[in-house]
Amino acid sequence: MEENFASELNQLYQEYLIGQAHRQQVIQRVDSTLAKVDWMLAPRRQFTNWARSQAGQSWKRQQFKRQDSRCARCKKKFRNLSEAEIHHVRSLHESGRQANNPKNYRLLCTPCNRQLGTTFDKNL
Ligand SMILES: [Zn+2]
Repeated sequence: MEENFASELNQLYQEYLIGQAHRQQVIQRVDSTLAKVDWMLAPRRQFTNWARSQAGQSWKRQQFKRQDSRCARCKKKFRNLSEAEIHHVRSLHESGRQANNPKNYRLLCTPCNRQLGTTFDKNL
């Protein structure tokens, strides 16, 4: 997805360089491409804001207890709350803003979160 936007912008740049596209056309098309990028990033920003909020922090503390301060995947004990990362079971990449629901979150250790990435794990 990101590569498509990058190549779209690069295409515009190339057209502008060879004089095939006028400045005003390029500006309009860049603006519409960036609007799509913003739309794509919105659920991620929404999640980040929630995670930093009082509600997000409070959810994390409660979830930490529910998971017996263990990673939901490898079951390794966390040393502290800040080691626990909030993972989307159904990814933002696939599900967009619908993925932003605490029922869809688990606390994982950093290696598990990195390994899984956007892959769905039915055991979580
Ligand atoms: Zn783990």
